[in-house]
Amino acid sequence: MAAGSQRTRYDVGRAELDELLAGEPSYRVDQIWDGLYRQGKDPSELSNVPKALRARLESDLPTALTEVTRVTTDDGGTVKLLWELEGGSRIETVLMHYDDRTTVCVSTQAGCAMACGFCATGQAGFERQLGVGEIVEQVVEARREAGDRRVSNVVFMGMGEPLANYDRTWAAVHRLHDDIGIGARHLTLSTVGLVPGIRRLAVADLPVNLAVSLHAADDELRDELVPINRRYPLDQLVEACRDYVDRTRRRLSFEWAMISGVNDRFEDAARLAGIANDLRAHVNLIPLNSTPGYAVQGSSRNRVHAFAEDLRRRGVNVTLRDTRGSDIDAACGQLRAGHEAQPIAPPRRRS
Ligand code: SAH
Repeated sequence: MAAGSQRTRYDVGRAELDELLAGEPSYRVDQIWDGLYRQGKDPSELSNVPKALRARLESDLPTALTEVTRVTTDDGGTVKLLWELEGGSRIETVLMHYDDRTTVCVSTQAGCAMACGFCATGQAGFERQLGVGEIVEQVVEARREAGDRRVSNVVFMGMGEPLANYDRTWAAVHRLHDDIGIGARHLTLSTVGLVPGIRRLAVADLPVNLAVSLHAADDELRDELVPINRRYPLDQLVEACRDYVDRTRRRLSFEWAMISGVNDRFEDAARLAGIANDLRAHVNLIPLNSTPGYAVQGSSRNRVHAFAEDLRRRGVNVTLRDTRGSDIDAACGQLRAGHEAQPIAPPRRRS
């Protein structure tokens, strides 16, 4: 399935804008480029541009995202945006304010084909790839919502698997970096562990951060939690990560959603520490957000802290991630799930 067929506003780069506005004076094209792309304004807000040209921009460069709902939680610290795309698919974008930064979490696909059983998006299945403009516009809209609080970071941790939509995701990374001005070190791609994609990233031309959703450090458990592990088992994944770290000198991080009684035992911590220390990777622990299709619970606070302490004792650099939006069932794809009748997969059986 293809991305939305119609060209939208943020599919356009500077060269395409020049082409579209051939015949206009170059200062005019500069004004429009600066207003629409660098500042993220709407054509109607470009007061220095003649009305007829503004109207033409509106019709030739339509926006891709139609707002379905906007939910603010965590005392204003988190804003979840639910959008409808051409064709009717729905995706989420999340804006998160922290003391020292403001982060936008974007989606790269409508749905996801990776089928991780604990993930709300994985339970609902794949719909279609997002286009470059659909990815970039999420950041533009989040930046608008953020107002004076400058968006400093973008994480590709929303719906979908970024490396299964590699070319469009990478083009969007470039747009955010080149046109919107977000530094490579403030851009993070998160992957379920697609080895060919990690190998491409290792030789890519911008040193972005890489997060790998590990969740299990032995193949038996990872096969079950993250089914793509059957195709790219841990030894291949670890080698691809090593290559990435060696070539880019970037820090790698591992995501670990803590699932009660499943991957939060001390033996899990010991295995995880082995891999993390080997690659000098950072570990991010996230208590699992319960989803309707997965009967297991997130680990308790005490368990999460004990697990983190155990990893630290083993020399691993660990952070605990808070679960933004979980109080209103809007964490990790659940906002969308609550706004449409989604078929929910039955809980996966543990072997
Ligand atoms: N497909 C990519 C990016 C999207 S998911 C990836 O797998 O990395 C972003 C992160 O949220 C991943 O680490 C994913 O495993 C995690 N996640 C998904 N569902 C979750 C849930 N219910 N609770 C906690 N983390 C979850």
